[in-house]
Amino acid sequence: MKFATCMTLFLKERLCDDHFRQVREHGFDTVELCIYPGHFHGTDEEVVWLKKSLREHEINVHSMHCSFDALTGEHLDKTEQILHSNLRLLADLGGRYLVVHYAIFADPDDLIVDEKGKRYPGFSVARALKRGPEMLERIKEGMASYAEYARRHGVAVALETDLQNSERLIEFISDADPSACGICFDSGHAQVNSDAAQLARLLGPRVIGTHLHDNDGKEDQHKPPFSGTIDWQGVLAGLKAGGYAGPLTYETLTGSLSDITVLNDRLSRLWEDAC
Ligand SMILES: [Zn+2]
Repeated sequence: MKFATCMTLFLKERLCDDHFRQVREHGFDTVELCIYPGHFHGTDEEVVWLKKSLREHEINVHSMHCSFDALTGEHLDKTEQILHSNLRLLADLGGRYLVVHYAIFADPDDLIVDEKGKRYPGFSVARALKRGPEMLERIKEGMASYAEYARRHGVAVALETDLQNSERLIEFISDADPSACGICFDSGHAQVNSDAAQLARLLGPRVIGTHLHDNDGKEDQHKPPFSGTIDWQGVLAGLKAGGYAGPLTYETLTGSLSDITVLNDRLSRLWEDAC
C-alpha cells in the first residue's frame, strides 16, 4: 500500500520549499495540493516555483483539492471558470484527479446566509436536495460537464464524501463519464453522524481517491487515524472490496507529519488482512 499526504498540515502558512523538504524527510513522495487563500493560489509565478520545488524534492502531485474560492459561496458566478482553471493546472502538474465538494453546485439565489453574512453553500445544497429533484439534476449535469472537461485534459474529477448525503454520491455522478469521474472517500466526513465503514463498502467501487482522518463521530476534526471512532478495519475492507488501488492519503489538520507516518505500518497490515 502506498501512502500520500495532503499539504493540509501547512494550510495556515504559505506553501514553501521547507514544507516539501519535511514531507520528503517523512518518507512521502506523493502529495495532494490544496488551493487555499494565503497558502497556494496557483498563480503563474507560484507554479514556476512549485514545479522546481517538486523536482528538487522528488515529489509527485497525485491530486489537487479545488480552490476554496469555489467552496465559500462567494464566487458562485465564477465556479466553472475556477474549476476549469484548477483542472488545467492539475493536468499541467501531471496529477490524476481534482477533489470537489457538492457545495460548488449551490444556487446563488437560494443560499443559506447567517446574520454575519457567512454563506453555507453545502447546507444550501443539502436543503435543496430535500425540496425536490432540481438540485439532483443540477449536480448530475454539473458533474458530467466537469468530468468531460477533465477527460479532455487527461485528468478526472472526484466528488468528496460530505457531512450529509454521502450515501447518494454514486447517484450524483451517475451521468458522468466513469473514466473521468469518481469519488474521493473522506473517512472523517463519512463518520460524522454516520458510519464510515458502511459508506466505504457502499461507495468503494467508485472511489478513486482517499482522505484519511478521524473524529468523535460528531464533528469533522481531521485527527490522525486511530485517534477517534472510525472502524479502520471496516473502512479499508470496504475500499479494498471495491477495488480501490490508489494511495491512502492522510488529510490531518492536527498533529505533525511524525504523528501520521507512524501509522503507515498499522494501516498497511489492516489493508493486507482485509478481505
Ligand atoms: Zn477531505
